[in-house]
Amino acid sequence: MASVDPSKLVFESQTVSAQFIDPSGNIAERRIEIRTHPITGRTCRISYSRIDEKEPGTESLPLPPPDADQTDACPFCRPQVNSQTPQLHPDLSSDGRLKFGDSLLFPNLFPYGSYSAVSLFDKAHFVEIGHAAAESYANSFINCGQYLAKIKNHDPRAVYMAITQNHLPSAGGSLIHPHLQINADRVPANYQRVLLHRANDFFRRSGNYLFASYLDHEIADGSRRIGTTGAWEWLAAFAPEGFFEIWGILPHKTSFLQVSESDWQELARGILNVQQFYRQLCRNGYNLGILAVEMPSSRLELRIVIMVRSNYAPWVRSDHTGFEMMLGDMTTFNAPEQTAEQARPFF
Ligand SMILES: [Zn+2]
Repeated sequence: MASVDPSKLVFESQTVSAQFIDPSGNIAERRIEIRTHPITGRTCRISYSRIDEKEPGTESLPLPPPDADQTDACPFCRPQVNSQTPQLHPDLSSDGRLKFGDSLLFPNLFPYGSYSAVSLFDKAHFVEIGHAAAESYANSFINCGQYLAKIKNHDPRAVYMAITQNHLPSAGGSLIHPHLQINADRVPANYQRVLLHRANDFFRRSGNYLFASYLDHEIADGSRRIGTTGAWEWLAAFAPEGFFEIWGILPHKTSFLQVSESDWQELARGILNVQQFYRQLCRNGYNLGILAVEMPSSRLELRIVIMVRSNYAPWVRSDHTGFEMMLGDMTTFNAPEQTAEQARPFF
């Protein structure tokens, strides 16, 4: 990572150009913008010339996946969900599975950490991007919040917590049935470790919260601001690490336990607005995630990140090339300011 001034947020951008003779024999120059992430110092690239190259599979919204109506084969569908999914350890809950409204939460059969669980939305087996009911999304999040509160009580050292979603196999989803993943552990993931250090260091040196300060800059600038839902502020990421990357920041809140039911509902509303935007772009896959470090000393505020993934459709190429995997710079094709402009009508 590039060095960052620990007491400042710098929104840095530089441009390089590639020159060559194009197939018609003319000298051509193509501009590539390189932005430095104000929080992590990681660089990313915007290769503007590729915006004109229409991505295969985005001419229209792809058809639903082939198993969109195969509810009998789905372990998350009712009634088999009650016999084919695991139950919580009795030390954690005597109920086996947690319910909130129509949402059902149970352990992940293939865990990624000490506390790894799945929170279903409602009874629907397949929901197209942007078409979930806001209430079912919110109930699933509230269920996650209640599970994480139990973990905090049961294992106070498992402070590294996260909620994520993989929509469709192109985004890493193994089952299409709508669900969130929850993870809590004593060992941090990379982003939890790096962001906690950055947020606490920033606070110690400047006396300010990191994401609130980022937000102040973006509100003053205005070009990447999209809208609000309740207390959540929605922005296009300045230095995106995914296509059409959008953040929702809940300033000054550093714990999932500080998120009220109405906050979760407003989060769900904002997520669905973003998905409606993605849907209009004829994109059907996305990842989202929000993390927290549940220590009283944490100054790391809550921020959800949502990004488009390659469409789930035949012969679509991955959005991660050798550049992302081998050099570590994400390359997208359009300016975040344009993402914000396109997303605003959905808020
Ligand atoms: Zn199902």
